[in-house]
Amino acid sequence: MNNSKGLLIILSGPSGAGKDTVLKELLAHNDKVRVSISATTRQPRQGEENGRDYHFISREQFETLIQRDGVLEYAEYCGNFYGTPRAQVEAWLDEGLDVVLEIEVQGAKKVMAKCPEAVSVFILPPSFAVLEKRLRRRATDSEEAVQKRLAAARGEILQAADYDYMVVNDALEDCVSDLEAVLQGEKCRSARAGNLIEEVLKNE
Ligand code: ADP
Ligand code: 5GP
Repeated sequence: MNNSKGLLIILSGPSGAGKDTVLKELLAHNDKVRVSISATTRQPRQGEENGRDYHFISREQFETLIQRDGVLEYAEYCGNFYGTPRAQVEAWLDEGLDVVLEIEVQGAKKVMAKCPEAVSVFILPPSFAVLEKRLRRRATDSEEAVQKRLAAARGEILQAADYDYMVVNDALEDCVSDLEAVLQGEKCRSARAGNLIEEVLKNE
C-alpha cells in the first residue's frame, strides 16, 4: 500500500515550552509513535532514569560515539553535548513507526538538511513570561541553569520560522490536537503516497 516507512518528526522549542509534556500526551494516544532517546553528557535531573529519559554518558563516550558515526546529529547546548543515536531511529522508521526527535535548533537544522522528508515542528510558549514561569515551576534546574536556558530561549524562538510548523502550547489539549493534525496531514502528502495509485488501480 502507501509508503510503509514511518514519519521522521523533528520537535524543537525552548526549554520549558512543554515539549516533554506534549510528547507524553501524544504517546498516550498513539501507539505507532516512538521518541528517540538521546545521548547526553548532562547530569541526570531528579527523577530522570538512564535509558528512559536519556542515555547519560561521559564526554569520552560521547566522542567515541561521534567517531563511530553512531549519531544522526549532535550539538552542544548550555555547556553539554546532546546527540541522536542513529541505529534505533533507522530501525523504527523501517518498521513503519513514526519517530520523534526532540532536539534543539542546531541539531534540528542538521537533520532538516540530511533528511528533507522529515517534518519539523516548533513548540512555542504563549509568551516569554509564561515560559519563565514554567521553567521555574518545573524546579528541576538550578538558578544558573534556568538563566542559561532563558538566555538561549530568545535566540531559539527567533528561529521558529525555519520549521515547517509552529504550534503554541497554551492549553495542553489544544497543542496536542494541533500536533496530531499536523502529523495526520503530513501522512496524506502526495509525495509520501509511494505506489498508492497503482495499488488502487491494480484490479481494474
Ligand atoms: P520542555 O520539555 O519543553 O523543557 P516541559 O514539558 O518539561 O518542557 O514543561 C515545562 C513545565 O511546564 C513543566 O512543569 C510542565 O508541567 C509545564 N507545562 C507544560 N505544558 C503546559 C501547559 N500547556 N500549561 C501549563 N503548564 C505546562
Ligand atoms: P534538556 O537538558 O532540557 O533535557 O535539553 C536541552 C535541549 O537539548 C532541549 O532543547 C532538547 O530538545 C535538546 N536535545 C535533547 N536531545 C537532543 C539531541 O539528541 N540532539 C540535539 N541536537 N538536541 C537535543
